[in-house]
Amino acid sequence: MPSSTDQTAIVAALHDELASVLALMPDEHKQTVAGRDFWVGHLHGREVVAVLSGIGKVAAATTATLLIERFGVQRIVFTGVAGGLGDGVRVGDVVVAESFLQHDMDASPIFPRHEMPGYGRSRFDTDRALTEQLVGAVAAVLNDAGHFLAGETRAVFGLQTPRLHRGLITSGDRFVSTASECAALQRELPDALAVEMEGAAFAQVCHDFGVPLAVVRTISDRADDAAHVDFPRFLREVASQYSSAILDRLFGAY
Ligand code: SAH
Repeated sequence: MPSSTDQTAIVAALHDELASVLALMPDEHKQTVAGRDFWVGHLHGREVVAVLSGIGKVAAATTATLLIERFGVQRIVFTGVAGGLGDGVRVGDVVVAESFLQHDMDASPIFPRHEMPGYGRSRFDTDRALTEQLVGAVAAVLNDAGHFLAGETRAVFGLQTPRLHRGLITSGDRFVSTASECAALQRELPDALAVEMEGAAFAQVCHDFGVPLAVVRTISDRADDAAHVDFPRFLREVASQYSSAILDRLFGAY
């Protein structure tokens, strides 16, 4: 039975990010459903359920459905990393999603390319109000980024002053890591800021259930052959730091 309390789901894409979220929760306890560990507890006194999304759209859709149907969450906040596609979207920047599209959905010629059969549309929006709150939290954290990222980390990843972008993120079941794939996506979807593997699945499930969603992605690579080599280190030293600081701020300021 869904609970009647006010619960927010925090979804992380990768282990390090989840660990940094759990470190903010004083009292979490684990419930395992469908091979996923859901961590139920509090963050700044608010009820939360934290979980790994699982990589890819199907894993993400199952996780989203369980959060809504089994745990009864009232809203979902997703944090992860993504490849930068848009001009000027650099490694270390942060993108907040206003809408999502599945770049690998193609039921043409029956439906136009990218259109989601049965929905008459290709894009699903995130929740405006929750997204504004998230943007506020990200902006505050990026103002302070100089304080919590070590100088060496900034040098290793060539990080400049991080910027906040907002707009379209595209998702598909593929890690985009060649210049030609990246260029093809940029051609097909000129307004896409970033590419990842789960967000559009969350957006579709949240649309189906009428549950507000907000998504933030730190840019870990440029989705090309030059994608930096030390992904685990980036996750640990940059993305996870951003995730926990952003969520801390979001829940502190809610
Ligand atoms: N090499 C990683 C694999 C992670 S899969 C590892 O060893 O764990 C990539 C994850 O990061 C997915 O959750 C996806 O949403 C996101 N992502 C980051 N950059 C991406 C890119 N260029 N293309 C697709 N997904 C990307």
